[in-house]
This record gives sequence, structure tokens and C-alpha cells, in this order.
Amino acid sequence: MSKADLSRLPAVEKTMQALGDGGGAGLPRPVVLSAVREAIDALRENPEAIPGFDAFVATMRAELARLGRTRITPVINGTGVLIHTNLGRSPLPGDAAARISEVAGSYCNLELDLDSGERGKRAGYLDRCLALASGAEAATCVNNCASALVLILRHFVREGRHRVIISRGQLVEIGGGFRIPDILLASGATLHEIGATNKTTLADYEAAIGPETALILKVHQSNFYMGGFIAEAATDELAALAADKGIPFCEDLGSGAVVDTDSFGPVEHEPTPAEILAQGVDLVCYSGDKLLGGPQAGVIAGRADLVAGIKKEPFFRALRCDKIILTALESVAARYLEGRTDLPLLEMLAAPVESLRARGEALLASLEGHRVEASLSGGLARIGGGTMPRSEIPSLALDLKPTSMSVTKLARRLRLGTPPVMGYTAEGTYRIDLRTVFPRQDDALGGALREALGHA
Ligand SMILES: *Cc1c(COP(=O)(O)O)cnc(C)c1O
Repeated sequence: MSKADLSRLPAVEKTMQALGDGGGAGLPRPVVLSAVREAIDALRENPEAIPGFDAFVATMRAELARLGRTRITPVINGTGVLIHTNLGRSPLPGDAAARISEVAGSYCNLELDLDSGERGKRAGYLDRCLALASGAEAATCVNNCASALVLILRHFVREGRHRVIISRGQLVEIGGGFRIPDILLASGATLHEIGATNKTTLADYEAAIGPETALILKVHQSNFYMGGFIAEAATDELAALAADKGIPFCEDLGSGAVVDTDSFGPVEHEPTPAEILAQGVDLVCYSGDKLLGGPQAGVIAGRADLVAGIKKEPFFRALRCDKIILTALESVAARYLEGRTDLPLLEMLAAPVESLRARGEALLASLEGHRVEASLSGGLARIGGGTMPRSEIPSLALDLKPTSMSVTKLARRLRLGTPPVMGYTAEGTYRIDLRTVFPRQDDALGGALREALGHA
């Protein structure tokens, strides 16, 4: 590369001035500066690609706008997937969110006993509520269900007693490359696989138990299902066997509904922690932000002596939740104990199709004259998030065929709009499932659609 080429490199300060405050995207100056420097460094490596100054500034502007859109922002979920991991899983109830903003911006009694003025027990009240909601003697919570599982395994695994018995049908990938066997190994356990992928019997468990057995683990099949020639040992029989042999028995429930979600919508029955613990299982763990409808967390519930032991693990300290999560979870757990089920997730699940239709008609009317063939069609919403793969919930979708742009372009415009909208494409039509759109978002959705369709 020649010096002459490099002399055409855009100057950092001049670029910063041309971009203006916040790089045109409301970004902090050091963020803009680092992006500009990176871009100039890349051109230094590839001088033939050095553009004119104005073109460079225009590219930077687009780049910074893209960067700005990676900041966390609310999105309208038109995918019909209620628990969408990419969209932040469960939306919190309004008063849980309000409690967060109250506590987050203030000091609080996180580890202070207001009665004595002494150091207090962190999350003592929450643990009590979680235990009651889980039908358990005791409960606690950590960062997420994956860490709950690691913590449980670390607690039971020790030298000479390190084998964790698990059925081959349960060595599953939970999602995002997170696999049960890897978790087991990461916690220092040795896998003791038993049975076959489609069949594992009580006798298989019985034959496997030995002096090196640390734990029997069952993993709830929450994101797939098996049919045909299959068998699994019954939980109550397995619990009796474990108790007889003095081996702890734990079930990873994953999704963690503490109420019968099948009474809210046409979905398969999801075992509750209380149902599983009543069968004699020693410990269960489940996610806070799946069917529970709370914040990201992992609840551990079951025998009081085991929960107390787990809380004494040094690793527990590394996985604990912060005050914001604890506040939100406390609010959600208390809600269930009051018999209230007005959580966004459960309300969306329960919404009758007729109520979606009324909202859909209003949206259709607001799109008249906006270069789109719009209609309503029956959609199928899903729980998602690796939960209840067999449950399809009758729903209603807004079907859009733009007349002046492609479906792909419409989808992109909606994603880049304010607020961003995420729908899906099926059979050449852009669809927005109304079950996962909050009624209070309908006006904003209509506005975003008109904006996206408005100019060709
Ligand atoms: C989702 C899931 C997990 C992981 O839960 P996170 O809270 O995301 O860590 C673990 N086990 C099962 C069975 C799951 O479905």
C-alpha cells in the first residue's frame, strides 16, 4: 500500500465533527469514537476501499444507527410465540415492573432486618413465598434454571460419589446449545446413562444404583416429545426406589408452571412443582421467566435440609440474584399466593379468539388506503421457549400483502420502526399474531404498520 493511498484516510476528528453529537444516534461519544476508529483502521488495512469523505460519513451514520438499535428496547411481539427467548421471554406484570422501579432507584432492606437493625436474611420472605407456591418445605432462587441445576449437582457430587444417573431419553439439548450432558460434566459429575433413548424402566435405575451414585436426575421433556414404542419409569416409583436406597432424586422441570396452565388455554398439562414433589421427589428446579411469568431466575424447591445445604454452597454466592430480580420475583410469587392469575403471560394464553377478532377488525380499518391487502386469518400461537411443543393455541393473525413493496422489505421496515414489530412470514404473506400483542399496543402497532406501508 502506498503513502498516497493512506493520506486519503478520513481523519478521526473531522469525522466526529461531521457526525455531530451522539453520532446522530444518541450514542455516548466514546462509543462513537471507537466505532469511527475501528472503521478507519479497517480502511488502513484495505486502502483501495477508502471512500470519499462524505460517503464515509454516510456509511458511519448507518453503522452507528445499527449499533444504536442493539440497545435494549421494547418490541411488539407479533410472532405468536408467548415465551420467546429472543424477545426476553415472559413480560412481567405491571405492578412487578413498578416495584422494580421503586426499589431499583433507592436503597432497600435487602440484607437488613428493620426490626432489630441488624443484618437480615437476604430473600427470606421470597424463599417462603416460593416454597408455598411450589408446594415445598423450602425453596430458594438463583440466576436461572441452568445455574440451579449446576448448583444442585455440585452439592451432591463428591469424590467417590460422583455418578449421576440419567435416562438416555433425557440427555437433551435445552436450547441455545445448552445440553444436559455438558452441564453434568461441567459440574464435576460423571454421567451414568441408563436405558435406551425410547425406553427406560425402573429396573434400569435399580440396577444402576451403586456406592458411587450421587444423584438420580430426571429432566422434564419440555421442548420435544416422543411417541410410539416408549416407556419411562413412573416418578412416584422412582422416588420410592431413591428413598429406599438413600439416593437423592431431583427433577429439572424447566418451564415451571405453579398453576394449571391447561385451565387457561388448550395446552397440554405441564406438571407443577407441587405435583412432582408430592410424588416424593426430593428437589425440583424450574425457570422464573418461562411459564411462571416472572424475571430470569432459577427456583430450587423441595426438602428443607437439602435446600439449606445448597444455600451453604460457596457456589451459591456466585449465582445469587440481585435486588431487582428478587423484587420482581417476590411480587410474582405473592400474586400466585393471593390466587391472582392476572399475569400477562396467562392473560395472553386465555384471551378468547373473539376478543382478538374485535381488535383485528379495528386494525384492518385503520389500514384502509395504505397500499396493502390486509385480512384476518386463523393463526396458531405457541408457548415456545422450549415449552409444550405439542400445544398449538387457536389464534388470530393480521395477514398483510403489501402492494408496493416485497414482504421482506415490509418485515425489515417494521423491525426498524418505532416501536420495532416482529411478525413472521408464511406462504408469501406477512403475519402478525395478535395473541402476543398487548391490547394497549394496538394503536402503536397500527401506527408502525401505516408508517412502514406508507411510502414505497
Ligand atoms: C429452559 C430449561 C432449562 C434452562 O432454564 P434457564 O432458566 O433458561 O436457565 C433447564 N432445563 C429445562 C428442562 C428447560 O426447559
